[in-house]
Amino acid sequence: MPDYRSILESNDPEVYAALVGEEARQRDGIELIPSENYTYPEVLALLGSVFTNKYSEGYPGKRYYGGQEYTDAIEEIARERARAVFRAEHANVQPLSGSAMNQAVYLGLLEPGDPILAMELSHGGHLTHGAPVSHMGRIFNFARYKTQPGDGAIDYDHVRDMALEHRPKLLLCGYSSYPRDLDYAAFKRIADEVGALTMADISHYGGLVAGNAMANPLDAGFDVITTTTHKSLRGPRGGLILCREEFAKAIDSSVFPGLQGGPHMNQVAATAVTLQHAASDAFASYSRAVLANAKALAASLLEHGATLVTGGTDNHMLVIDVIASYGLDGRAAQALLDGVGITTNKQVTPDDPLPPFRGSGVRIGTPAATTRGMGTQDMARIGAWIDRALRAGGDAKALAAAAQEVRAFCQAFPVPGLD
Ligand SMILES: *Cc1c(COP(=O)(O)O)cnc(C)c1O
Repeated sequence: MPDYRSILESNDPEVYAALVGEEARQRDGIELIPSENYTYPEVLALLGSVFTNKYSEGYPGKRYYGGQEYTDAIEEIARERARAVFRAEHANVQPLSGSAMNQAVYLGLLEPGDPILAMELSHGGHLTHGAPVSHMGRIFNFARYKTQPGDGAIDYDHVRDMALEHRPKLLLCGYSSYPRDLDYAAFKRIADEVGALTMADISHYGGLVAGNAMANPLDAGFDVITTTTHKSLRGPRGGLILCREEFAKAIDSSVFPGLQGGPHMNQVAATAVTLQHAASDAFASYSRAVLANAKALAASLLEHGATLVTGGTDNHMLVIDVIASYGLDGRAAQALLDGVGITTNKQVTPDDPLPPFRGSGVRIGTPAATTRGMGTQDMARIGAWIDRALRAGGDAKALAAAAQEVRAFCQAFPVPGLD
């Protein structure tokens, strides 16, 4: 095997410098973006393996190109493991990423123009849940429910009222920025009342469902769940669709040939390995630790006087209302935290008066830090650093001191795949 690093270093120093820089950034800082994680060394290796050379349009046993002995084997393994981990009748492991996976479900089960009821973006939904700027928002007729003022939770009576008014063909739940668990039985009852299909987009917390730390919507009788593979599941970038057998054909033909061409077989191989991990006891403990860490971080921030959207968390993420807590918009808060080596993302809060590029909140989550081995006591320290950074104002000395502490702290936690 030629050493790719020395080849890059001599032939393409600019790309090499970016790679080395990113490795150092991932090692020296605390990663708190809730949709990110550190994947397994085998996943990194498989993503860079010869499977990337292969065209495998179609499905195992029914491909359009020859030479599929090994690609068929890995896709079959990935599908079987996905079904087992999520207790699903059918799995499609080919979606190139989360957005494509959701598009494939809508386009496979519905007709353009059909009504869909989903969660409003600024209240925690995802762009692909019908945001007007998304292509899906143009193709389907989305209505979007909101969380209730006050505690910021979903009001199921409001969801039901909207369902009765809009008569959706598909009732969609799941979120990118909502720190609470969902009542899938309530969604299912509402969908049944109006004759809608049920879909849960568990992209953010698919790993926590796989690890049995959070409820599985399929257990409540949902028709379809979708999840990314690179967030709490710790795998390669990609998407999974899990559904009841009666939708298997429609979903498969929607993914290919409907929406995509050749699947990324390097990604499918990496997904197979990820799902073996996801079925392990170690991963179940990891999932519980992610939730315990989120609770500990929330408790620490609340102790320091921060205001959290919904007042806390039931899952792996929390949203600090940084305008209310520190008089900073999300962009300014994110920049201050970047300055001390804590990576987060600015976030709009429900009915945010500020535009998305500023936002009133900062969204933080614990999957990546937990992967690195950080525990609940570490979360208390991280909460204190966040609070210090956001109160530092223009005090460059205070920020530099915090940055140095963060950097030293990180050296105790090896990065999987790097160290
Ligand atoms: C991240 C996410 C997606 C999209 O995933 P990409 O891989 O970024 O396309 C879809 N739905 C939800 C709820 C997400 O959080």
